[in-house]
Amino acid sequence: MTTTLRKTKIICTLGPATESPERLREMILAGANIFRLNMSHAQHDWVRKIVPTIRAIAAELDMPVGILLDTQGPAVRTGDLPTKLPLKIGDIMEFTVRGARSEELYSVNVNYDGLIDDIHEGDTVLVDNGVIHLKVLSKLNNRIRCEVLTPGELGSRRHINLPGVKVNLPPLTEKDLADIAVGAEVGIDFAALSFCREPSDVVEMRRVLAEHGSQARVIAKIEDQSAVKIIDDIIRETDAVMIARGDLGIECPMEELPIIQRKILKSALKIGRQVIVATHMLESMIENPVPTRAEVTDVANAVFEQADAIMLSGETTVGKYPVECVKVLDKIARRIERSGSAHFAEQTSLINPRQKTAHSGVVLANSFAKASLAVLTRHGHMADYTSHIRPEHATIYAITPSTVTAGHLTLNWGTLPLVMPFGNTPEESVKKAEQLLISRGLLRKGEQLIVMSDMIEGEEKFDSIQLRTI
Ligand code: PEP
Repeated sequence: MTTTLRKTKIICTLGPATESPERLREMILAGANIFRLNMSHAQHDWVRKIVPTIRAIAAELDMPVGILLDTQGPAVRTGDLPTKLPLKIGDIMEFTVRGARSEELYSVNVNYDGLIDDIHEGDTVLVDNGVIHLKVLSKLNNRIRCEVLTPGELGSRRHINLPGVKVNLPPLTEKDLADIAVGAEVGIDFAALSFCREPSDVVEMRRVLAEHGSQARVIAKIEDQSAVKIIDDIIRETDAVMIARGDLGIECPMEELPIIQRKILKSALKIGRQVIVATHMLESMIENPVPTRAEVTDVANAVFEQADAIMLSGETTVGKYPVECVKVLDKIARRIERSGSAHFAEQTSLINPRQKTAHSGVVLANSFAKASLAVLTRHGHMADYTSHIRPEHATIYAITPSTVTAGHLTLNWGTLPLVMPFGNTPEESVKKAEQLLISRGLLRKGEQLIVMSDMIEGEEKFDSIQLRTI
């Protein structure tokens, strides 16, 4: 374990390119902090097998690794087709619901019956990641008649995006509920809610997780315009947000995407929640061993703006160079972190007294050229507050007796979670923590350590900040 911790965390989606134990080990050693299981593709048996494998490798390497289960969410999809449809500009294509039949040469059923009520003449339909663009001409009983505006081959079970259309699907489908149950069974650290549209969707996800005995943190995936409009309300309700640029870039005008990304990032840092920048970060590395200059700059931008994490999808599920991708992110992040930041975290709200205490600890740490922060935390709140303030140089060592809390903190910017049983008194715990950091080579003689922990005086317990020279 190195003493210079990378601040920005790296999330890697798992797939055929990375599921073997050997590759998982290489990915962790290269710098992967969290593995994402994408339930749009993953099977339950695979989840039941891969999670204990990851846990065993992480334990053997003694490195904290988080596990994120990403639900498919209320996705609208085309049904099965016997052969692909070669759509050309000007062709007529019909989408059918409720078992309706179409006489058109090109037609396909859709998995969501309510589409006929939600969609209107003139609306845009985008299929297969926005590649095929259609315009709604009319609705005829249970058929939606469209004109093809951009050509493409339409295959089976393709994702449909409907920019600006409010889809009345429940936040969690039957499939999501079954997937969350398996996630809870195997002990995930995070559950991502796809197409989060309202704060109540997060509440529902939390309720379902609790029903299954899971304390996983909820990540609201921001994927459409309706969520962007009420972004602060969603951020206040959730534990973390993901800027899911794949769908967001289809649902919103593409030139708006960088503005939306910055707006979500700033809001998350201001309100104090973790934020993930996802999708297409190193897309060209699915095929090539080096990234494009534009990709390097995109990654650097997310790091400069101090996102908690950056995420890889296709690059590590089916890409030819998954380990190299992690190394590239690690290299860019370390360099950019040394170069400064956008300082968005200066706007972080300090509302409760504990946030103010964390802020004072960070100010103290910032006043030294070299200092570390040790936060003794049971539920992770104090560690969250400290990370939200984005200390200038100091690494945050979040020391906790809870493996659940340590799992949650794998996402936090600048934070290394360490599991350690607490002592009988706060003073004993601080001593143990100091020893732990020294024994791991994370602290050396003469260095400054700022400790945030409980303190007991008489019957009273309160937060304390101590400055210790080792
Ligand atoms: C995205 O759309 O950017 C995203 C992360 O979601 P998914 O990969 O599940 O489509």
